[in-house]
Amino acid sequence: MLPRVSEAVERSLAAAAESQSRTNAFLALAPERARASAAAVRPDAPLAGVPVAVKDNICVAGLPATAGSRALEGFVPPYTATVVERLEASGAVVVGKTNLDEFGMGSTNENSAYGPVLNPHDPGRVAGGSSGGSAAAVAAGVVPLALGSDTGGSVRLPAAFCGVVGFKPTYGALSRYGLISYASSLDQVGIVARDVGVARRAFHAMRGPDELDPTSREPGPAPASTGRVAVLRELSGEGMSRDALEGLARARSALAEAGLEVVEVSVAAVEYAVAAYYLIATAEAASNLSRYDGATFGARVGDPAEGQAAVSARTRSALFGPEVKRRVLMGSFALSAGYRDAYYGRAVRARGLVAAGLAAALAGVDALLTPTAVSTAYRLGEKLADPVAMYAGDVATCLANLAGLPAVSVPAGAGDDGLPVGVQLIGARWSDDALLDLAERLSGALAA
Ligand code: GLN
Repeated sequence: MLPRVSEAVERSLAAAAESQSRTNAFLALAPERARASAAAVRPDAPLAGVPVAVKDNICVAGLPATAGSRALEGFVPPYTATVVERLEASGAVVVGKTNLDEFGMGSTNENSAYGPVLNPHDPGRVAGGSSGGSAAAVAAGVVPLALGSDTGGSVRLPAAFCGVVGFKPTYGALSRYGLISYASSLDQVGIVARDVGVARRAFHAMRGPDELDPTSREPGPAPASTGRVAVLRELSGEGMSRDALEGLARARSALAEAGLEVVEVSVAAVEYAVAAYYLIATAEAASNLSRYDGATFGARVGDPAEGQAAVSARTRSALFGPEVKRRVLMGSFALSAGYRDAYYGRAVRARGLVAAGLAAALAGVDALLTPTAVSTAYRLGEKLADPVAMYAGDVATCLANLAGLPAVSVPAGAGDDGLPVGVQLIGARWSDDALLDLAERLSGALAA
């Protein structure tokens, strides 16, 4: 075994165990598997010996995958997600599985059945969600790289709250095989990393079509560079905290200093984004989650002699958390006879307007610049009593998912409370490489 690889892996495993009582970032550590895979790493592999943490809704054969739910307690998948397989083939070493909001449903990680993730910068604050464990593990220095999933912002929001980089690629750039489905038309595997360079190496290792995911594909042509970035007017005033706006202003001047022209653009349909997102996400979730029937996967409550319908009802009411139940109800309602056109149908049309508006706004620029979050990390419990306020915090991130666009959050200094602030760049479809280059330039200019 390469001494450097085993040292990095041992250090990461020890840091994970040591920080766990402060952050609750991990749901499982995998020391034996990590040591075995470290022993097989080729020294010339692009990610040789890089320890990686994997969100617990992404399957790794032989390790538990709970998706943050009691419903999947005890489930050990017999297969590995394509993204993890490709990372491992590039030399990365999986050290553990990270905490998340149940099935990825949440913005704070407080919806995990296994307790919230605490922000490494302040234990009284949330780490953000739903990939809170992945972001906290990177922010606490346990791993330089972690995988998450991003349906409406779940990689970018916690990255912003924890002061690290979060990247959601173009829909279809990364295989979703082995990712436990939440809302399939929005779900995308995402990357949390210490810096943009690490995120890029991981992206290059994982991207490309996979015959096990028919929505994965070869990248389309990337648009030509314009040297311009546009601030999205709808997200640069009302609804944003002073901390968020100051982060935006810092990013704006940093981009100008880096030689880019910064303009402003308006996309009126942004107004409909959160409503459309939550109707589509819950509708797809209601359908995807019907597989948890007490018979197929994970845990079961009740006696099979009572019949499948009774077992299914009991299992679901006992094992799904309150937010998951709320979403299954909302989604089933949005799809129900008589309401389908008024809710789901309208949301799909609004999604089209958002996508068209963003495409038009991106036509003359390389990227759109927005705050990632509406404020710094929320206090624990602050948004729990008011789900709609929680949902509203996804206004900047859900745009990219609705339109299938790549988007990246990078740290942009701190707010008045000393907590990290993130800014987001959204690019045109298949501009992932150029977007990461721009994010790197922005990070460099912000650090200067
Ligand atoms: N906060 C959003 C939701 O709860 C996004 C979550 C995600 O991206 N998985 O749906």
